[in-house]
Amino acid sequence: MACASCGGETKAGALFCGRCLAGIKDPTALLERLIEPCADSRWQKLESACMRIGPVSTSDLAMVPGPDRAVIFRAILDRGVRSLLPGFVEEYLEGSGVGVHLFGDELVPRRQLLWLVLDSAEGIEVEGEPWARASVRMGNVHALLVKAVFPLSLDPEWLVEFIRLHSASATALYARAKPFPDLLRIAASNIQVMNFYLGKRDSAIAELDKLVTPLDEEGERILLKEIGLLLEADRRQEAAVALKRLPIGAKGFRLERLRARAEGKR
Ligand SMILES: [Zn+2]
Repeated sequence: MACASCGGETKAGALFCGRCLAGIKDPTALLERLIEPCADSRWQKLESACMRIGPVSTSDLAMVPGPDRAVIFRAILDRGVRSLLPGFVEEYLEGSGVGVHLFGDELVPRRQLLWLVLDSAEGIEVEGEPWARASVRMGNVHALLVKAVFPLSLDPEWLVEFIRLHSASATALYARAKPFPDLLRIAASNIQVMNFYLGKRDSAIAELDKLVTPLDEEGERILLKEIGLLLEADRRQEAAVALKRLPIGAKGFRLERLRARAEGKR
């Protein structure tokens, strides 16, 4: 098979050659190259319209915090104002569709800034719950990446190492929730969602079930994760039973989607 990126020879059944895989952060990014080259990439939602400004004749341009996320992030790092970091990371990841809870169905946009934020912020320790929450979200990005690469036809050796690294990063980030019981419960449930995608399906669902009680607001969210995983594992009947545990008035787009899937409509 030819490498989807450089055309070189690959191991049997592998999409990319070893050289192209080396040093790649997000191998799913390479899949873009598999798209019909003549297709309009905007249709594939890979690019958006952008406006370029300049050149300008004055030297008055300064990098100050403005509405641009990348500039704000740089300013926070350059000035060393760590107290602003938790709020920034939380807001940025929220806007990228990564919540504190990991459901596994999140679609994370492929942005360079996302990796820049993770690379620069992950290792920083800030006291307090806001940073722990932001860290749980960062852990979710790693977990989602693990989920995304699992089905790709890549060199098994490379894949094992890649998954080991990212699941370890996720685990380390989740560990920051330890001093905060409510957050710890969420992080523990996220770990089980990740374990499910790592192939420990049955044990992950069983462990997740233990975290559902008490069935408060967070418990309901954890139950939604369990239902989603039951459906993914094709345990439809159990999913239908679990759906009945939710309060009658429960609503939400995720719940509607799960209900439809459990009834076989989707
Ligand atoms: Zn290659």
